[in-house]
Amino acid sequence: MKILFASSEAAPFAKTGGLADVSGTLPKFIREMGHDVRLIIPLHQCIDEGKFNLRRVAGFFVPVGERQVEAEIFEGRLGDLPVYFIKKDRYFDRPELYGTSHGDYPDNAERFVFFSRGVIEAANVLGFHPDVIHCNDWQAALVPAYLKTLYNADPFFGKTASVLTVHNLAYQGVFWHLDLPMTGLSWDLFTPEFLEFYGKINFLKAGLVFADILTTVSKTYSKEVQTPEHGWGLDGVLRIRKKELFGIVNGIDAQEWDPGTDREIASSFSARSLKGKDKNRKALREEMGLADTSAPLLAFVGRLAGQKGVDLLAEVIERLGDTDCQFVVLGSGEEHLQRLLVDVANRHPGRVAVHVGFDAGLARRVYAGADMFLMPSRYEPCGIGQLISLRYGTIPVVHRTGGLADTVSEFSATSGKGNGFTFRELTVESFAKAIQKAVKTYQNRPAWTRLVKNAMACDFSWDSSAEQYLKLYEKAVRMRTAK
Ligand code: ADP
Repeated sequence: MKILFASSEAAPFAKTGGLADVSGTLPKFIREMGHDVRLIIPLHQCIDEGKFNLRRVAGFFVPVGERQVEAEIFEGRLGDLPVYFIKKDRYFDRPELYGTSHGDYPDNAERFVFFSRGVIEAANVLGFHPDVIHCNDWQAALVPAYLKTLYNADPFFGKTASVLTVHNLAYQGVFWHLDLPMTGLSWDLFTPEFLEFYGKINFLKAGLVFADILTTVSKTYSKEVQTPEHGWGLDGVLRIRKKELFGIVNGIDAQEWDPGTDREIASSFSARSLKGKDKNRKALREEMGLADTSAPLLAFVGRLAGQKGVDLLAEVIERLGDTDCQFVVLGSGEEHLQRLLVDVANRHPGRVAVHVGFDAGLARRVYAGADMFLMPSRYEPCGIGQLISLRYGTIPVVHRTGGLADTVSEFSATSGKGNGFTFRELTVESFAKAIQKAVKTYQNRPAWTRLVKNAMACDFSWDSSAEQYLKLYEKAVRMRTAK
């Protein structure tokens, strides 16, 4: 099969979150299964053309409203995977991907109309006519709408199927209605059945309506998004399409995330030989200015956003003041949450360390050095932090929601089964209780070692998820040709 994987970010080129992890990994696995998959992303400012050996392969024009916007295509490789970069400095030569801490870029509608339309036009210019375009999130969600409207009569794209993966339903790309002409789509589509969303246009909704197949990044989340509680106003649309909606849990690249070979960490280790983990803990304490104690070290790595339950985290750290444990927090995001955490750290020097910023190397040292990994997310489509932490023998303590519910199971010292600790009710009390249970287990050394080994034995590699995606690509093609 020929598959074009369209995403606004992909590791290691540009990353703000889990979408980049998936986009930088899943296509490689599908390629290894013998398919001609190629990745396409915008050429963001953070992508160093020299470092990644990118070369210009074509110039082309992308219609945006009445204009023909001139742009270029660069090509690079990720292993064997061809990666195309759409270069248009006016849109993508910016310090951040989507906006600053003061808010989204005001021209995001135009930027991602250009990108979505550019994906199809680039494929054409490159002579690569995919059987399936796998679109991700709102930034690429107009692609399915284009395929079924403006390109429906096109000899190539008229047969191209689309799969849309929703990595986080809360981000939808909602813009005022007067941006519609820029999309090139007809006002006939400005109705509640199609793009209209409470008087505005909603890019993600366009994708949800037009894509042949829809997926979310875990089974539980695929059910949750059909409820008013987690549907962000789109649960009705998703219920209508529930027969074409599937949940496939994300994997992680087991080579990329391997405590046995990770060069960023102080000492390598494996499930068979855990000694290195102690060295990493010690090194992390030193790096973060934490006291040297025998207490367990609890960590958080993630976006500082309401979704991630950062307020609960700050409160639980205060609440557990007397409990014998230390905290290390790495995150960037909303300013008030940064301040909240820094205040907590200032009140507890030596016991709580907070590093504000995005630091991929430090994240690895935290995964390797911590004993427990905290994810009190209000909702979590899949979550990658818990998967990485399991791989590094760092025990997740998580809110039982979305992908966290699908990947973390409660440990029982009696049966010796389970890989972490979960709590159902989203309150500081139940979060604190789960942590206390984890800390108590930590003091029972044989039980803890069993638990760490269970965690490290979990297989969340991409193989089985990639196979599930392939089946859905085939299904999408069948659906497209049947119409
Ligand atoms: P989301 O996509 O909602 O942000 P995920 O758990 O799916 O959350 O993925 C987050 C990814 O980003 C993980 O790989 C995590 O390690 C990484 N990450 C998040 N914040 C930071 C940070 N401040 N520094 C380094 N890595 C981070």
